Amino acid sequence: MTDADLLARHRAVLPGWLALYYAEPIEIVHAKGRHVTDSEGNTYLDFFAGILTNAIGYDIDEISDAVRAQLDTGVLHTSTLYLIRKQVELAEQIAELSGIPGAKVFFTNSGTEANETALMVATQYRRSNQILALRNSYHGRAFGTVGVTGNRGWSASSLSPVKVSFVHGGYRYRGPFASYSDADYVAACVDDLTDVLATATSGDVAAMIAEPIQGVGGFATPPDGLFGAFKEVLEANGILLISDEVQTGWGRTGDHFWGIQAHGVTPDIMTFAKGIGNGLAIGGVIARADIMDCLPANSISTFGGNPISTAGAKATLDYLLDNDLQGNAAKLGEHLSSGLRDIGSGYGIVGDVRGKGLMIGVELVEKGGTAPNPAAATAVLEGTKARGLLVGKGGLHNNVLRLAPPMTLTDGEADEALGILHEAIASADAAD
Ligand code: PMP
Repeated sequence: MTDADLLARHRAVLPGWLALYYAEPIEIVHAKGRHVTDSEGNTYLDFFAGILTNAIGYDIDEISDAVRAQLDTGVLHTSTLYLIRKQVELAEQIAELSGIPGAKVFFTNSGTEANETALMVATQYRRSNQILALRNSYHGRAFGTVGVTGNRGWSASSLSPVKVSFVHGGYRYRGPFASYSDADYVAACVDDLTDVLATATSGDVAAMIAEPIQGVGGFATPPDGLFGAFKEVLEANGILLISDEVQTGWGRTGDHFWGIQAHGVTPDIMTFAKGIGNGLAIGGVIARADIMDCLPANSISTFGGNPISTAGAKATLDYLLDNDLQGNAAKLGEHLSSGLRDIGSGYGIVGDVRGKGLMIGVELVEKGGTAPNPAAATAVLEGTKARGLLVGKGGLHNNVLRLAPPMTLTDGEADEALGILHEAIASADAAD
């Protein structure tokens, strides 16, 4: 049972558009490893935290120790107007890992702020407020980012000042290119990009912003090589590429450290957030130095790059590199994906299993076709919760299960999750 009183108070004082999962929302009061416990004492294997907050799991000693050591100094934060050692160390490490030559890093508190900064830097650098974004994208809900978010369910406002043109290249399970082969799809997207550039813009576009795998959009995974093909067109027109790595960064996709690398591309700008804080609020922008340094005036973020968040993020990054969690994501991602494909082949409500590494989407459809089935997704979400597993949901129609466990996932936990998912899918399929 949910704490009904807390839920009523939440509803009374927090905005109605603040999304809450589950008919009976849970309050998580304890966490360890890949498990969380709610206020009623129920423990769940957490297959969604990996992206949202805890990239590598809960209550990891090395991370807690790093944060505690900073707390013990008494300096939770004073000001980013002073030197912060951990901020510099983390920036050096991230710049090196980015693959962007001579990169500079600016820290923010969230992915939205990171993308806002990226858009400001890119538009200032190019002296243009025209941006290309992908249909079905999500980049945040501030005034600039909401303009480049191409997913109606999350577009709070149509009044963003950014001049945006949306192109194909994110999602294709449904839509005009659904039946295309990978090669034909890439060619069609390049044609679309070229056409949009020539017809819907004045040509002097600042940047394209894109997620290598669309997160909120339902883990829509374009063929490797799409962004390589895009980059040729962008470069020919002097347009920057911003890779939004808020969900795909840090090895989660298994095959590469950054999602965009699967396309053989080095972007001009990357943004990150969410999991790298492993629960602490941190985001950031990585860019070529000439781009990053193009802003004419002073800048400050009161909390961006503060000692607590950067200490925690540095310990998280060290932990995931030292323990080859990218390798673990590749191995267990493959195991989960093939397990889910096997399970899915037996049930009409499973239309598609996609993704990379520990970023796996399961699109639920009406039996016998491809029409979205959000009711089945809700049923599976409730069904897995009742059996002790938390998963996420997404997609334009809210009909895609999103699986993104912490990258420290074990073989046993992967199998346990497959068992629970199988039962929940079977039961939703039978009820459909
Ligand atoms: N970009 C992507 C790809 C995201 O998934 C999100 C969050 N869902 C954001 C940006 C915004 O991040 P935040 O919620 O930290 O502002």
